[in-house]
Amino acid sequence: MRRPDTIEKLYLDFDGFFASVMQQAIPALRGLPIGVIPFDVQGRQADSTVIIACSKEAKTFGVKNVMPVPDARACCPELILVPQQPDLFRRANATLLNEINCEIPIEAIKSIDEMTCGLDGGDIAAPHDLAGRIKARIAKNVGPYITCSIGMAANRLLAKIACKVNKPNGITIWKPASMPGPLLTRPMSDVPGIGSSMQHRLAAAGITTMPQLWDSQPKHLRAIWGNVNGERMWYAIHGYALHAMPTERSMFGHSRVLPPELRNLSKARECSRLLLTKAARRMRRGGFRANSLSLWLSLSEDGWGKSCDLPAVMDDMAIQRALDGLWRRAMSDLPSKSKAYVVSTALGGLSDISMRQGDLLLDDDRERRRSERITNTIDGLNAKFGKRVVTIGPWSDLALAGGKIAYNRIPSAEDFW
Ligand SMILES: [Mg+2]
Repeated sequence: MRRPDTIEKLYLDFDGFFASVMQQAIPALRGLPIGVIPFDVQGRQADSTVIIACSKEAKTFGVKNVMPVPDARACCPELILVPQQPDLFRRANATLLNEINCEIPIEAIKSIDEMTCGLDGGDIAAPHDLAGRIKARIAKNVGPYITCSIGMAANRLLAKIACKVNKPNGITIWKPASMPGPLLTRPMSDVPGIGSSMQHRLAAAGITTMPQLWDSQPKHLRAIWGNVNGERMWYAIHGYALHAMPTERSMFGHSRVLPPELRNLSKARECSRLLLTKAARRMRRGGFRANSLSLWLSLSEDGWGKSCDLPAVMDDMAIQRALDGLWRRAMSDLPSKSKAYVVSTALGGLSDISMRQGDLLLDDDRERRRSERITNTIDGLNAKFGKRVVTIGPWSDLALAGGKIAYNRIPSAEDFW
């Protein structure tokens, strides 16, 4: 395995992304403690929800992300609750990615506010200049209220850990020659993949500090993890070049930027059906069921998006029926002449395909099993005889029309949307 002797990866994480985007877009919110909430509710009605993101001003009062609203109000009585604007976040993400791509190609998008890049010779020689250019460009072309932290190191995992060190708006460069010094002062919880349950398992094995983790053996970590990820983590913190760590998937989705002739609701609907068929097929291949379905439309002025729960399904019938339900809501919410520019569908809340129990409340087990058998048969025929010898409903090339958008995963805050 290769152990680079220079920095090779950059990790960029926006600081308090959702709240800072709101403050950039809405000047009246700047400098104030704000908490972003998932619904448009105020007063006591908001008590049953949680803060999905808060501004740095709110953080100084002790408000935290994913905090129940009454607790956040107890920390900060002046807290201003603002309903989230998913389409604003999505557009901000697209704009920011464009700006970063002008300075350095983005290698992977890790979530709505995190991404990584590979460094080339000039960047490696002058990393602070590169970080400064990215920050200056965002401040000038998007706005100074949206800041980011940047870490650079031999591999992606170390760059991500470094990225946290000087948050917010920081630049942290861990050259291999200076390692492991700065890493050893960090808490183990800074390492991606070491959450509270892994910390308990490590503690049971006598590992409670970063130096102890560093001094452990790869095989030992593999045993503690119960899989190869523990061993990979050992090599990553020791500065070896590794391909991306396999992460747990949280969604299967497809998006398309629609070409002008398809920018009406009925074509967008047809396109979404095909995109979702493809997403569902990939989900089954990955061995998952979905517990939620989302549909997003970017319209000329704003956006429309709704999600619905699914009873851990994998069959096309249940999934397409749920999509029809979301479209009925879209059709009643939106003017019939609305123009849709982007259509996105996503299956989320994934669970193991073999794990479904019949839903007693829905009493749908017999019907579900039948639909699942049909779906498996169709997948089997398509696998054997070509991609689309059997489809549910007509198949057209609409699914291939327009530009593709890849969301690597839905960010965790979106789990509340
Ligand atoms: Mg962030």
